[in-house]
Amino acid sequence: MVEHHVSSYYAATVNDRTAYPQLKGAIKADICVVGGGFSGISAALTLAERGYQVVLVEANRIGWGASGRNGGQVIAGISGEHNIARQFGADGTNLLRDIRYRGHDIIESRIAKYAIDCDFRRGWMEAAARPRHMDGLRRYVDERRAEGDELEIVEPGDIGRVLGTNIYHGGYIDRRSGHLHPLNLCMGEARAAASIGVRIFEDSAALQINGGAKPYVVTAQGRVDAGAIVLAGSTDHAFQRGRLRGLTFPTGSYIIATEQLTEAEAQAVNPQNLAVADSNIVLDYFRLSADRRMLFGGRCNYSNRDPKDLAAALQPRLAEIFPQLAHKRIDYSWGGRIDIVLTRVPAIGRLEPNVYYLQGYCGHGVNATHIAAEIVADAICGTTEKFDLFDKIRQVRLPVGRWAGNQMLALGMLYYRMKDAL
Ligand SMILES: Cc1cc2nc3c(=O)[nH]c(=O)nc-3n(C[C@H](O)[C@H](O)[C@H](O)COP(=O)(O)OP(=O)(O)OC[C@H]3O[C@@H](n4cnc5c(N)ncnc54)[C@H](O)[C@@H]3O)c2cc1C
Repeated sequence: MVEHHVSSYYAATVNDRTAYPQLKGAIKADICVVGGGFSGISAALTLAERGYQVVLVEANRIGWGASGRNGGQVIAGISGEHNIARQFGADGTNLLRDIRYRGHDIIESRIAKYAIDCDFRRGWMEAAARPRHMDGLRRYVDERRAEGDELEIVEPGDIGRVLGTNIYHGGYIDRRSGHLHPLNLCMGEARAAASIGVRIFEDSAALQINGGAKPYVVTAQGRVDAGAIVLAGSTDHAFQRGRLRGLTFPTGSYIIATEQLTEAEAQAVNPQNLAVADSNIVLDYFRLSADRRMLFGGRCNYSNRDPKDLAAALQPRLAEIFPQLAHKRIDYSWGGRIDIVLTRVPAIGRLEPNVYYLQGYCGHGVNATHIAAEIVADAICGTTEKFDLFDKIRQVRLPVGRWAGNQMLALGMLYYRMKDAL
């Protein structure tokens, strides 16, 4: 049974309501992409731009998963960078430097090329949640500056000039990163993909996939025979086999959207219209929407159970940061699943010679999905340098089922939550 977009600020303001048909019957393609979030849509679009015939099957609606629900923060780099640098040394740091803003560039060029209206704004800040975090942020900024990136330190005493709160202990601003309306980006990229020939099917869950010499994907009413299959995003539990078994574990993250602020209120809380994430591991993140709502995203759910009342769970934290917003009505609240990989390095690899996967962005996926999709598309086209490096990463796989893995992850989250609080 197809699930529609979760009720959210994004679903209420989506500017493209295209419904794609269900797959019925057997069709052929060069590539069959499974999953219609950023990973899948971006891979399909890149491959179609390079001349491939692509079919994409989505179980629910395009943008139904994390891609249509997230905080909209377009953040430089990928999660787990230290593990890549540690394992691959100079090759790793060169890779990280090369891809750091690649997702941003892809997104911005598509917005321009395909006229995608998704409220993209530049300006992102990491705010020090504890005084001791500032040392780490300074070191990070120094390293990035040495590579040519232009980041601005916000001194602890200046935080009140950047945000309407004194709760943080400084931070840094990255003006190439920013924020956007993720569902509108996802729908816009899907429209772009369809416009150049990608055949998109919704309500078409892949129920069976087969690699081997003649790859195919089976849905309830159809079948796609293709030269290669791309499992894009955390697709079905049924595909968590082989190298995907025990690799990614979903955990909850939640967002509330206030009523619209006046221009003066918006100016007072976030005068530079920055997207902000704090420096905790289990972090808070927020930004203003284009119509001046405060979109405040909360700490991951470390008990691994969805809170019954999201507004009640998140609003006190918002009020702690911005007491001036404590009385604001909460118009929307929703949650989604973040896929955690224990090394925190996105899982990009091959299940079989012609079955690729990309997933596990650890809550840092708006840009990273676009980077990963290009790396997989490059590999399909024969350029495997970056793909091979990701494929070789020593990922940690838990030799337990998903339920037990989730309980262990919840314990880990609780540990980090306590560490953040010290
Ligand atoms: C609340 C929240 C806030 C976040 N905030 C940010 C943020 O501010 N910045 C950031 O960078 N990242 C953020 N993230 C993470 C980011 O949203 C994800 O990393 C990214 O969207 C993952 O995209 P994806 O395409 O890989 O997966 P998804 O968007 O989840 O897409 C996977 C798709 O596959 C489909 N599917 C599943 N099984 C099948 C099947 N068998 N057959 C066909 N289709 C199938 C699903 O229906 C789904 O549409 C956040 C995530 C959440 C949940």
